[in-house]
Amino acid sequence: MPQDSFRAADVGWQREANCDGASFDFAPDVETSSGLDAARTWCDPCPVRAECLAYALLYRMSGYWGGTDTAERRLLGYARERVRCPVCRSKALIKTPEGHEICQACGMSWTSTSRPRLPEEAAG
Ligand code: SF4
Ligand SMILES: [Zn+2]
Repeated sequence: MPQDSFRAADVGWQREANCDGASFDFAPDVETSSGLDAARTWCDPCPVRAECLAYALLYRMSGYWGGTDTAERRLLGYARERVRCPVCRSKALIKTPEGHEICQACGMSWTSTSRPRLPEEAAG
């Protein structure tokens, strides 16, 4: 990991979670910027950060996931691409700073350069 593409719903990525066993509360009642900073000490070097973020988007989780807090993920949800997900054809796509595109509808993700093509795109 990170892979060219993955499904966030396949939770095998959780075995590589940097925060596994951490005593820090990643889902506090109140999220703060200092709390997010603290979470990022685990998330920034985490090998499954993109998978984690995709999972949180797919399941509308609250708390610190993939180096983001709940408010940041809500904002990310507005930054949609006009292209469609090649798996479910949803247009609810999110681009991460690390170069992944994540489908909010089905949790599929791929790197920007490896997006599987829709049949009509492949024909063109
Ligand atoms: S990105 Fe952060 S919250 Fe997600 S698995 Fe890694 S360390 Fe844990
Ligand atoms: Zn999709």
